[in-house]
Amino acid sequence: RFESITMAPPDPILGVSEAFKADTHEMKLNLGVGAYRTEDLQPYVLNVVKKAENLMLESGENKEYLPIEGLVAFNKATAELLFGADNSVIQQQRVATVQGLSGTGSLRLAAALIERYFPGAKVLISSPTWGNHKNIFNDAKVPWSEYRYYDPKTVGLDFDGMISDIKAAPEGSFVLLHGCAHNPTGIDPTPEQWVKIADVIEEKNHIPFFDVAYQGFASGSLDEDASSVRLFASRGMELLVAQSYSKNLGLYAERIGAINVVCSSADAATRVKSQLKRLARPMYSNPPVHGARIVANVVGNPVLFNEWKEEMKMMAGRIKSVRQKLYDSICAKDKTGKDWSYILKQIGMFSFTGLNKAQSDNMTNKWHVYMTKDGRISLAGLSSAKCEYLADAIIDSFYN
Ligand code: PMP
Repeated sequence: RFESITMAPPDPILGVSEAFKADTHEMKLNLGVGAYRTEDLQPYVLNVVKKAENLMLESGENKEYLPIEGLVAFNKATAELLFGADNSVIQQQRVATVQGLSGTGSLRLAAALIERYFPGAKVLISSPTWGNHKNIFNDAKVPWSEYRYYDPKTVGLDFDGMISDIKAAPEGSFVLLHGCAHNPTGIDPTPEQWVKIADVIEEKNHIPFFDVAYQGFASGSLDEDASSVRLFASRGMELLVAQSYSKNLGLYAERIGAINVVCSSADAATRVKSQLKRLARPMYSNPPVHGARIVANVVGNPVLFNEWKEEMKMMAGRIKSVRQKLYDSICAKDKTGKDWSYILKQIGMFSFTGLNKAQSDNMTNKWHVYMTKDGRISLAGLSSAKCEYLADAIIDSFYN
């Protein structure tokens, strides 16, 4: 019975926040979970979100169930945001879009689709990747293996390793790609490398499966951050794209996202959508409405849409500025001549510091800096006031 159930280990990412809460040191810093903080290190609710919520309150929305596929206005807005409204995949109605429980739930629904309709097909995931990817595919009983991605020697992309592993995978595999701002490394392929990645995926008849958790949040531009996905779509390939509004609209707890399946015909898209709904029904029946309405209101209202873009630029800009300041502080303090420029080259909310597990432990145990054990820090949780302190911690941990 329940007596025999053993204790589960804490989650490697969310568990960090629990440890942080228990620490009473005044200099403690939580760089574990990827959540945006203001310069005062407080959570941030976007102004456009508050405005959209006011509009929703004024219009007296009800709390009836959504259809299984989610809010129609949201699904339209989210697919258009991703591909661009004038994209032929949208025009030709080749995208099956279903609202999901944020990025995670959308990935999980896609995994269920793969498990049911592509039995035995493998998902290739980058080494390393966001920790939850493995959990999702394991629980959905979808086999996965890793392709080389991170090169510890250069703290950069192992592009040749990546290409040869994708080439070596069985034909018709799913290749999970981070649309932008790779988590945890912050290392993205260049536009030229994306073209080559698309070439091998096409050659091998693989199906690209994008995880887009940071559209607009990485570069500050919605279009720029979607360019990898749009490149693949422009080649007429079938693809999967999971989206999340946790970061770019700060809707972490609203659990709003979507799964998009680009098919080769409108007819196939209709059929795929019907199967996604069938998979969702016994899992959670239908998705929550609040976040979907916020997104639909923000994207559907030109004034709010523009304001959102400004707020995203502001958030992305703050992260870029602490990235620069951290780099400057480290360079000023480190007299060894080590090249730290990889910190500047990384994109998005994370920096992969290159610290190993023991060094990451030192960051936490000695310096009260909470981070994941793979050496990842969330710059979204860093203020410019704490950059010097963090630089001291990193240098001490790196050389001791
Ligand atoms: N994929 C990646 C790569 C992520 O970094 C995240 C957020 N940490 C997600 C998906 C999904 O997060 P959520 O379920 O909150 O949308």
